[in-house]
Parts: sequence; structure tokens; C-alpha cells
Amino acid sequence: LNFYIMPLQLPITTYGMDVLRKTTKPVEKIDNKIIELIDNMFYTMINAYGIGLAAPQVNSDLSICLVDISCIDEYKDVKPLILINPVILDSHGESTKDEGCLSIPDVRGEITRPDKIFLKYNDFDMNEVKIEIDGFLSRVAQHEIDHLHGKLFVDYLSKESMSKVKSQLRKIQKRKVETDYPLYED
Ligand code: ZN
Repeated sequence: LNFYIMPLQLPITTYGMDVLRKTTKPVEKIDNKIIELIDNMFYTMINAYGIGLAAPQVNSDLSICLVDISCIDEYKDVKPLILINPVILDSHGESTKDEGCLSIPDVRGEITRPDKIFLKYNDFDMNEVKIEIDGFLSRVAQHEIDHLHGKLFVDYLSKESMSKVKSQLRKIQKRKVETDYPLYED
């Protein structure tokens, strides 16, 4: 029996919640639960107009993240990445660009990261895949992989930039923010 289950738009966890500060657990095998989670994560990301999403952002403790920058015209031919147990093996160069995060609404900051990364991850058959990516795709992947280690982009901000976003971060911690996607209530 084969039937299609409509994916769910999951609520997004926000700055201040413990789940965003924990190191995730590796995925051991791909079962229906994992496939359902990834399906729901895709649906959630697209509906929130996100270009990446990591499992802790939907309150999961698994090492899974998605990157899909194809909604940006310039990158419309770039295929989405489903990264299961990703590990950055090597990195080169440096670039600085503005970043934001669905879990930290209305906060943006200039973040410096390596430009090119060489990474490995598992695919849906749990085979190990190695890829080299650079530019914007690499930046988004690094942001999402950071989430799997409890790291957030605001952790890279200078003291001066941090002081500018502090009041907004406090608002988020108190859930006094409005978003056009559902937020997690604990
Ligand atoms: Zn994020």
C-alpha cells in the first residue's frame, strides 16, 4: 500500500532555546521517520522562505540539515543539498557577507567565513558523499552545519555589532517577535 502523506509545516525553535545550543546525534539509519522528518523540514523551509534549515530548528536532535538557494534567481539552477551527518574536512579562503536565521528573526549581521569548503556527508542510502562547494552555497551550508554543533551566526558578531542586536535578541528570548511562519512554543 502506497499513500502520500501531506508534509507538515513545523514550528521553528528560537534563540534562547536549549535545543539550538546542543550538539546533534548522528543518524544511524534511514527509516520512514527520518524520511518524514526531512520531508517536513523541506516543506517548513520553503513555507518560511528559508534557504537552509537544520534539524535543531524544528526541535530535533539529529545531524540533518538542508540547503536550498534555488529560490534566489541568481542560483535558480543550484540543486538543493540534503546533508545527513555532514563533516567539514577542509576549508579555504575567506568571504564576508550579511546573514540572518529563521531562528533569530529580524537580526542580521556581516559574518566572515571560509569561502570554499570540502565536506563529507551521508546520502539517503547512507553512502558517504564528498563534495567541494564555494561562494553562497558554501556559506549557507556552513551556517546550517554550525546549527548541528549548537553554534549560531550571532556567535561570530563583534562586540560592537552584538551590542546593536542585543535588544532584539532579548525580545526573541521573551517571544515578543512576530514572524510570518509558526514559532515553537514550549
Ligand atoms: Zn540559522
